[in-house]
Amino acid sequence: MNEMTLEFDALLENEVFARTSGVAFLLPYNLSVDELMEIKTILAEMIVNSIVHGYQNSQKGKVVLRMNVDNEYVLKLSVSDKGVGISDILRAKEPLYTTRKDLERSGMGFTIIESFSDDMEIESIVDEGTTITIHKKMKFYG
Ligand code: ATP
Ligand code: MG
Repeated sequence: MNEMTLEFDALLENEVFARTSGVAFLLPYNLSVDELMEIKTILAEMIVNSIVHGYQNSQKGKVVLRMNVDNEYVLKLSVSDKGVGISDILRAKEPLYTTRKDLERSGMGFTIIESFSDDMEIESIVDEGTTITIHKKMKFYG
């Protein structure tokens, strides 16, 4: 098992730092370009959600990224915030559902995350925060 945790302020400019750090953690595993692209997209969608929705762009609060890889090359990746939470998780997961049309959000984030993952779990409590967790089996190219 190999694990990392990264905590950063909920500023949009930290999205690139956090996403590239997450990808850099996986570089020793010799992933394919496709796998890295999928993981990069998952990271970006989760991190932006925490900043834009969780903390509503207030720039107040911390986002925590956790990643680990087990001996079978299964990646577990989670992003947590202590923001506003999600009141209707089932609706939030629906394609095209967004609470922020005003910000030109398309409501596809969770659909994209789920399609690039083996499974996705949303844990959220209103006014306490949200944790999104995925698992993804990686190929080993030795
Ligand atoms: P897009 O990701 O396409 O830009 P979006 O962010 O609105 O649009 P999703 O990522 O699928 O779409 O999220 C759906 C909805 O779930 C959001 O509009 C928001 O209401 C809610 N949501 C998602 N992540 C969080 C979060 N971390 N905290 C609070 N609400 C969230
Ligand atoms: Mg989103």
